Amino acid sequence: MSGLRSRKSLRMSESRLVIAVVAAATRTAFFSQWLSHACFACRISSIARRIAGDRRARVRVDLRGRSDFERDVLLKAAEIPHGEVRPYGWIAAEIGRPKAVRAVGTALGHNPVPLIVPCHRVVRTDGTIGHYSLGGPENKRAILAAEGLDPDAFERRSRAGAHYTGSRTTHIVCNPTCRHARRVMDKHRVWFRSLDAAADAGYRPCKVCRPASGAGAVAIPA
Ligand SMILES: [Zn+2]
Repeated sequence: MSGLRSRKSLRMSESRLVIAVVAAATRTAFFSQWLSHACFACRISSIARRIAGDRRARVRVDLRGRSDFERDVLLKAAEIPHGEVRPYGWIAAEIGRPKAVRAVGTALGHNPVPLIVPCHRVVRTDGTIGHYSLGGPENKRAILAAEGLDPDAFERRSRAGAHYTGSRTTHIVCNPTCRHARRVMDKHRVWFRSLDAAADAGYRPCKVCRPASGAGAVAIPA
C-alpha cells in the first residue's frame, strides 16, 4: 500500500511540476510570441486549405453587422463546392427568397471575405460568369479556371440554352457543374434549357446540387 501511495504522490508531484512549468512558460514573452506565431500559421494554413477546397478546414469569419438576409446569402454561397458554380437564382431559392435574385447579387457584391466565402462561384442567372468585387470579371474567370472550371465553355453552353444537364440512365437533372453531373458519360448526357423542360421529359432534380426551378430561365443583371 505504501508503495502504491508513493507512486501516486510521485505522479501528483510530476503533474504539479508540469503545470508549474507551463504556467511559467506562458508568462514569458518568448512563449507568448511562439504561441501567437503558431496560431497565426495555423489560421493561415486553414485559410489556404479552405480556399483550395478542403471543406474540413474551419475558418472563422466575422459577419457581425450584416443583415439576416446577407448572412443567409453568404453562408449559402459558402456551401458551393470547389470547382462548381451556381446561379444567383439558386441562392435566392435555397434561402427561401426566390424573387430576391437581385438582392442576392448585391449581398455578394459586398462580401466581406472573398475567397473564404466563395462568391466567385456564383454566376449570373443567364449563365454568364458576371462581375466580381475582387478585381473584376477577369479575376473571377481566373479563379474559376484555377479550380478546374472552363469559364468559356460554361458560358458557351449557357448561351446555347444548356442550363441543366441530366443522365439518360438515371433520369436525374443537375446544375451543369455538379460533381455528379460531371461524371455522366457524353453518350448518356442530355441538356435542358429549363427545369420545367427536364421535368416534362421525366427527369427529377439532383438531391445534391438541388437545381432551382426558374434559375436559368430569366436573365438577371449581376
Ligand atoms: Zn447534381
